[in-house]
Amino acid sequence: MKIAFHGADRTVTGSCHLVECAGVRLLVDCGLVQGEGETEERNRQPFGFAPADIDFVLLTHAHLDHCGRLPLLAKRGFRGEIVATAATRELARVVMLDAAHLQEEELRRNQRRRPHRSAARTEAEADALYTVLDALNCLDRFGRAPTYGQALELAPGVRVTFFDAGHILGSASLYLELEEDGGRRTVTFSGDLGNRGRPLLRAPVAPPASDIAVVETTYGDRLHKPIGPSIEEFYAAINGAFARGGNVVIPTFALERAQEVLWYLREGREQGRLPPLLQVFLDSPMAISATQIFEHHPECFEPHVARQFGAGKDPFALPGLHFTREAVDSIAINRFRSGAVILAGAGMCNGGRVRHHLRQNLWRESCAIVFVGYAARGTLARRIIDGAASVHIFEEEVRVRASIHTINGFSAHADRDELLEWHHRVAPRRTFLVHGEEDVMRIFAAQLHDTEVQMPEFGQSYEL
Ligand SMILES: [Zn+2]
Repeated sequence: MKIAFHGADRTVTGSCHLVECAGVRLLVDCGLVQGEGETEERNRQPFGFAPADIDFVLLTHAHLDHCGRLPLLAKRGFRGEIVATAATRELARVVMLDAAHLQEEELRRNQRRRPHRSAARTEAEADALYTVLDALNCLDRFGRAPTYGQALELAPGVRVTFFDAGHILGSASLYLELEEDGGRRTVTFSGDLGNRGRPLLRAPVAPPASDIAVVETTYGDRLHKPIGPSIEEFYAAINGAFARGGNVVIPTFALERAQEVLWYLREGREQGRLPPLLQVFLDSPMAISATQIFEHHPECFEPHVARQFGAGKDPFALPGLHFTREAVDSIAINRFRSGAVILAGAGMCNGGRVRHHLRQNLWRESCAIVFVGYAARGTLARRIIDGAASVHIFEEEVRVRASIHTINGFSAHADRDELLEWHHRVAPRRTFLVHGEEDVMRIFAAQLHDTEVQMPEFGQSYEL
């Protein structure tokens, strides 16, 4: 029995862990490495294992940094089964198709911009990482869709149970029961864990006590602000920008955060804490599709939200809300110089339509940019949050003059205490820390007791 680490090792993106037991090879997640330039080039490197040898991929959730290399895996020969909850499967479909589409677009843009380089272009540069067709082919690999708490026998000696991780719709922690040559081990993968007290999703459910845990540590060094003050801060940022005659740009992750932001905008309006919102743009085809998928899965929600769906009320319906699927409608948002709330991806601003809204609004003192999610090192979002005086967008220098807000209480990730409590319940004698920046991991590791802690490096493998 072995575990090997092929992504999200001492970093937060590209989750990919390989487990071998009883002749079965399974991956937990196969995510895209996100960042810019060289970081993203890592996606083109070999996986570190032969994709054709993988029997199963167990997908914890549909975020790109967990599912985004699946089309590449299939393109490089994977013919096994992808196992995920029904909601994860639906969301992953949208996420992977969107990623493929963006990569094709990026390729076309580069070709237009540098036609003279075409002869010298390397093969790697000439290809998209994967195409829409690759993503479609990968969808054929999705097989069983377990419900939470249902044990699934993948092969003799290998069982998995999915538990609600409360992170995004359909997200799961995985409890693996492994047997080989009379030896037995239980291994729990936290996946990304959600935090409590959010409006839509239930709190994470910890799997049973396990011998070994593989734990994400995104926010292992800090405590989130309580949600109440975060909502206040959010409404204040919008009211402030409107009073100054500006717009509000909210870089949003299409899954979950966009829907939560719509929820809070509607509540703020209904409670009179926001002025009439005449122009709210959900400028992300993916977020629009995701919102529709949310509407298909009331079973994943907090009971009070599920009841609203059941009663025929759409909790995301907001007067003044416009869905802009087409690029031409997205560009038309430019004509609003004040009073608009613009939600657009990507959340870390490392791509997507939000960059063009930043170019329009970031340099204007009257505007507000409101970050509501995690921003990894090296991303445009992180540079703005860290106080850059100017940034480069589409090869143009843009001064940062808008007010910048980071609303940390909206996080979709558990904070230090929530991670510790989860870890305490799972009570592993051995703990692997993944999906965190190295300094954060060290701080978190120092809080763990009665367990052997490891912080694997990329490519490292261990006997279980
Ligand atoms: Zn996630």
